Amino acid sequence: MDASTATAALTVHQIARPTGFPAPHHFRFVESTIPEPAPGTALVENLYWSVDPYHREMMDGDFELNTPLEGRTLGRVIDSRDSALPEGEIVFHRHGWRTHSVVRPDEARRLPHHEGVPLSAYLSILGGTGLTAYVALTRIAQLREGEDLFVSAAAGGVGTATGRLARLMGAGRLVGSAGTPAKVTYLKERVGYDDAFDYHAGPVAGLLAKAAPSGIDVYVDNVGGEHLGAAIGALRERGRVVRVGTVGQYNTPDAPPVRFNHADIVEKSIRMEGFLVSNHRNLQEELYEFAVPHLRSGRLAPDETVVEDFGRIVEAFLSMLRGGNTGKMIVKRI
Ligand code: NAP
Repeated sequence: MDASTATAALTVHQIARPTGFPAPHHFRFVESTIPEPAPGTALVENLYWSVDPYHREMMDGDFELNTPLEGRTLGRVIDSRDSALPEGEIVFHRHGWRTHSVVRPDEARRLPHHEGVPLSAYLSILGGTGLTAYVALTRIAQLREGEDLFVSAAAGGVGTATGRLARLMGAGRLVGSAGTPAKVTYLKERVGYDDAFDYHAGPVAGLLAKAAPSGIDVYVDNVGGEHLGAAIGALRERGRVVRVGTVGQYNTPDAPPVRFNHADIVEKSIRMEGFLVSNHRNLQEELYEFAVPHLRSGRLAPDETVVEDFGRIVEAFLSMLRGGNTGKMIVKRI
């Protein structure tokens, strides 16, 4: 067994279904002894956890109550009963929301050793978050050089990754929306957006018209609702809407339906397409090939909010749902 200082394992359970925003009382931390790996498995001490908007969707039914939650995680193999998972190796797996996980080789992926790349990047720009942005731009939008983009939730994990990758791919004008003036500044000064606005400052259609006065070619939609309606209005002929997520509605399921001019879809030959990143895992290597050299050269950087201490994972998740993160929200073991 590899060196570890932990004497007990902690697991997070969901114990009640929320209506609207979840709160700490919907969760419970459960302490147990550190699990023993059976033959054909390995014990992983988790180091970094991803908390994601889709976990909120799962809280409505897919997460079983009073059972350890699942989520994307990086950890170190500390006790192995399978040669495919050597002790000391860093692996990615989905048995998150707990300090220790027992995994089979088919449930864990050994991380590549990219010199000079920080570990947390495999949950942000090189992980499912970066892959979502990469698929959105290359496969769904089929972005061409010089095209103008609008991105909502632009200061979040997918939004920052979309902006940075689009810039490297030769996008034209990049416009983002986010929930605070500080995020707007971050987008313009750090991520490479040409303009950005705080969507609380007025109707989104008016704010977008000011930031992108000659229109847009592509809208990467992380939010839905009013943002989606406004973007359809701003799209040029042969514009594309990439439906990535609907974070504006996960906690407000009774939100009014999106209003837009339906004739726009026909008259501007607009294409709207959604996707799930889980159906594009085959592009993981392609993302590494594209992004890792840029990460090494400094032309690309991960955007992350890192909350230290597994004991704060619920707090980090709830904070992310209310916009407490800039870049990908990640929890780190201390
Ligand atoms: P994130 O953007 O890092 O975090 C969520 C952000 O949503 C918050 O920081 C907050 O930022 C924003 N937000 C919350 N309520 C909002 C509202 N009412 N209106 C507008 N913005 C709101 O999360 P992420 O992991 O990168 O995910 C972004 C989106 O992509 C989500 O919709 C998620 O479900 C989706 N997603 C889809 C796939 C896929 O396979 N299709 C994969 C990953 C993620 P503000 O401060 O700006 O409000």
